[in-house]
Amino acid sequence: MKMLIGENWVEKDDRIEVRNPYNDELVDTVPAGDEDDVKAAFQAAEEGFKINRGLPVHQRISILYKTAEIISNNQEEFARIIASEGSKTIREARKEASRCIDTITISAEEARRVVGETIPFDSREGSENRLGYYYRFPIGIIVAITPFNDPLNLVAHKVGPAIAGGNAVVLKPATVTPLSALKLGEAFIKAGLPWNILNIVTGRASRIADALVTDPRGRMISFTGGTEAGLDIVKKAGLKKIGMELGSNSPVIVMDDADLDQAVELSVSGAFWAVGQNCIGVQRIYIHEAVYGEFEKQFVERTKKMKVGFQLDEDTDMGPMITEQEAARVEKWVGEASQEGAELLTGGKRKGTLFEPTVFKNMPESSKLNCEEVFGPVVNLYKVSTLEEAIEKANSVDYGLHGAVFTRSLDNAFKAIKELDVGGVMVNDSTDYRIDMMPFGGVKWSGLGREGIKFALLEMTEPKVVCFNL
Ligand code: NAP
Repeated sequence: MKMLIGENWVEKDDRIEVRNPYNDELVDTVPAGDEDDVKAAFQAAEEGFKINRGLPVHQRISILYKTAEIISNNQEEFARIIASEGSKTIREARKEASRCIDTITISAEEARRVVGETIPFDSREGSENRLGYYYRFPIGIIVAITPFNDPLNLVAHKVGPAIAGGNAVVLKPATVTPLSALKLGEAFIKAGLPWNILNIVTGRASRIADALVTDPRGRMISFTGGTEAGLDIVKKAGLKKIGMELGSNSPVIVMDDADLDQAVELSVSGAFWAVGQNCIGVQRIYIHEAVYGEFEKQFVERTKKMKVGFQLDEDTDMGPMITEQEAARVEKWVGEASQEGAELLTGGKRKGTLFEPTVFKNMPESSKLNCEEVFGPVVNLYKVSTLEEAIEKANSVDYGLHGAVFTRSLDNAFKAIKELDVGGVMVNDSTDYRIDMMPFGGVKWSGLGREGIKFALLEMTEPKVVCFNL
C-alpha cells in the first residue's frame, strides 16, 4: 500500500515489509517514510487545517457517516487485514472492525455537540453592558501516533474526533501494523474527505518520531502506546497539548460472594484477548480465600481449553504474539518469575510467536510479572483475606487504567469504586470491557487525559471567548 501525504498516495523505493506474525508470510509492503515525508505531511496538514475548519459541521458529519458506511460495507475485508497483519483472531478482528464503525459514527454524532455557553458578564460590577459567550474552535494539526494491538479502532479514536472538531491530522501508525490505518485513510478519501486534512506517514519511529514530535506545527500529540515511548515524547514535545494513552497491568478482585462462573469466564477472556496484548487486559486477580481454591481450579481448567494457533482459523481462540522478539521477552519474564518463586499452574511455553496461555500463583510482589505490564498471555492469581487487602495490593503498582470487582454486595462494589486508583472500575465484568463513547484513560503511569469521542473532542478543541461591549 502507499502512504497518504497531501493530495497523493505516495510510493517510495525504500519499503517496509508487513508480515503475518503466525507464519511470517508477506502480507504487503508500505513505504518507509523519512523526515522529509514528515515535513511534507505537516505542510499539507497546514493546508488541510484551513480547509477543515472552514467546512460547515454538517459536511464533516456527512463525511464521517459516509466513512462509517464504507467500513460497514467492507467489514470482513477490514477484519481480515487486522487479523493478517497483527495478532488478533479473525473473530476478535471482526469485533474491532464493528467497533471502528461505532467510533466513526459517534464522531459524526458528537460533531454537532461541540458547543459553548453564554457568559454572565454582568456578574461583575462594572460589566453590566457586556454580553457574550464562548464557543470551541479546533486547535490545528493533531499528531497521532498509534500502537499495533488495535491497529484500526485506536486510529479511528484519534482521526474521528480530530476531523469532527475541524482539525487536520498527521498520523503515524505502528510499523508492524500500518495496513488497517491506510485502509481507513482510503475509506475517508472515498467518503469525500478533502485531501490534505488526513496525512498518514508510514515509517519506523527510530527514523521519524523526532520529526513528528518536535515540529512546532503540531499543536497536540495524541499518543497511544507504551510508557517508555510516552515519556520520550513528553521530554521532546515542547509547547503542545499532550494526550497519553499508556499501558497497565490491570487488577481484578473476586470476592467470596461473587458469581464464580461469571468471574472465571470473563477473567479468562480478559486475560487472553488479543494474546494478552491489550492495555486493559487482566493481569492480576485477587481472590478471596473462601473461594480461592474453587476459582483456581475452574480458571486453570478453562484456560487449558483455549485453542492457540493460526489467527485466521475460525475456531482459534488465541493467535500469535506480534513478533518473536516480544514472545521471547515474555518467555524470559516467565522464566525469571519461576526462579523468583512463582508457581506455574499452566502454560509457560513458547513456540516461535505462539505462547501458551499462562497462569501463575504466588507471584512475588517484586517480580516484573507483578509490577510491570506483561502485554502477553500471562495472568497471576493471588489469595487475599479481605477486600481492604485486595484494594491495597491492586493499587500497589505504578499503573492505573481499569480495575474490576466481582461481588454481589453493593458495599463491596462501592468501596472498590471509591478506592481503586484507576480511570475506570468494572463491576461484575472484566477490566477489558469498553465501549467507544465512554471516557477512557488512566491515572499514574497509565496516561494523561481521556479518549472516548466526546472527551477527545474536548482535548482537540479550545474555548474562544467573545464579549460585546454594548
Ligand atoms: P510502542 O512501542 O510504544 O509503540 C506505539 C507507537 O509509538 C508506534 O507507532 C511506535 O512506532 C511509536 N513509537 C515508539 N517509540 C517512539 C518514540 N520514542 N517516540 C514516538 N513514537 C514512538 O507500543 P506498542 O508495542 O505498539 O503497543 C503496546 C503498548 O501500547 C502497551 O504498553 C499498551 O498498553 C499500550 N496501549 C495503550 C492503550 C490505551 O488506550 N491506554 C491502548 C492500546 C495499547 P514503531 O512501530 O515504528 O516503533
